[in-house]
Amino acid sequence: MPQASHYDTMSIRKEFPFFEANPGIVYLDSAATALKPRTVIDALLRYNTHESVNIHRGVYRLSQQATDTVEKVRARVARFVSTADDATAVFTKGTTEGFNLLAHILTSEASKLSDRFAAYASAKPPAILLSESEHHANIVPWQIAAQRAGYKLLYLPANADGYLVPPADFLAQAASTYAIRIVSLSLQSNVTGIIHDLAPYREFAAKAGAVFIVDAAQAIVHVPEHIRSLAPDFSVFSAHKLFGTTGVGAVVGSKPVLDHTDVYQGGGGMITLVEPDRSGYLEAPGKYEAGTQAIGEIYALGAAIDFATQNAAALSAIEADLLAYADEKLAATGIRIFGKTPTPYATLGRSPIYSFEVPGVHAHDTGTILDEQDICIRAGHHCCQLLMRALGVSATARASFSVYNTRDDVDRLIDGIGYVKKIFRTDGHGTKHKAS
Ligand code: PLP
Repeated sequence: MPQASHYDTMSIRKEFPFFEANPGIVYLDSAATALKPRTVIDALLRYNTHESVNIHRGVYRLSQQATDTVEKVRARVARFVSTADDATAVFTKGTTEGFNLLAHILTSEASKLSDRFAAYASAKPPAILLSESEHHANIVPWQIAAQRAGYKLLYLPANADGYLVPPADFLAQAASTYAIRIVSLSLQSNVTGIIHDLAPYREFAAKAGAVFIVDAAQAIVHVPEHIRSLAPDFSVFSAHKLFGTTGVGAVVGSKPVLDHTDVYQGGGGMITLVEPDRSGYLEAPGKYEAGTQAIGEIYALGAAIDFATQNAAALSAIEADLLAYADEKLAATGIRIFGKTPTPYATLGRSPIYSFEVPGVHAHDTGTILDEQDICIRAGHHCCQLLMRALGVSATARASFSVYNTRDDVDRLIDGIGYVKKIFRTDGHGTKHKAS
């Protein structure tokens, strides 16, 4: 199959110093964290080398310049995931902290939400709707909040291939019993790469008067346009999956809503006035940014959004090419790939994130043997234990591709899987024992 994409992966790849430092390595773990292009590393370095001053509180020009840079990145982040005029971005440590923030403020009695979200005015018992396909970051914070605030947790079921398949009357029944105040779903699975069609759930949330949240941790790099078109009340992501650094992410949502919700963490930088027994708080987003922010990482996030925007066409063409090529090549190996069965369930497609099982071989063994061949994949439950249960496994091996990967990387993976099968003497369809 000739390379379909006319984009030059090799010149994009040269922008990633990782490959100079690790020649010969096949990096197939971008769903865990993406590699960083030089422009992102330079932005982090620029702040820490030349502009290393604090923001928002300095009266001197250098501090004001750094504040300007951070505020420009904030505006870019909000525009990257939202078309709403009133959208703002709250900087967090990442997706996980974003969900902890939302779980607190959306279940706190101090938040004033009933004017905007009718479910908060209902007398029915309150509930939160999630799915079995969610990352633990979009489950555990809600469990903690639900226990504290007395909410019921409801889960849309996933099937044995990772698709969301609620029974026809699932939503209607849930809504007749509970006031579903929060619907929080991942647009794209970090396990299967499936881009879920969330439009029906978005519509349901709007009708139910619920807050609709999108876990955009994976979608932010593969399909940011779908986040924008869903127009969620909040979306949550981490910079490090979008070619940015670790340590920063954002919650994007309506500033007027955030102005009326409870505070989360307290400290310097989020107050207007502190008295001995009470304090006044800034408007959003400032009231959610207690303490010194990850300033260099925010600079780098700005560069990451520039990189993703400038390379958007190349990114989707290269990913589409890798998806078609890897689909065909992997099918021929006889391994089980999760989320790839032709399905009647509505999805918006997939990205090249492959969870697979070499029959008879534990995912960790597959990962270790591939590592011996310089191929980096992930093995485990991928922080999705409910989904693993639905898939009927305890772990999968996962290979995830990005803009810097090539068809050669797919070929290396196929050869590596061949070697795993040889070591374990499996024919790809049944179990045999490991060769000693
Ligand atoms: N949600 C999804 C879908 C993810 O893939 C991840 C990370 O893998 C997270 C949430 C959590 O992101 P972080 O660990 O950066 O907070």
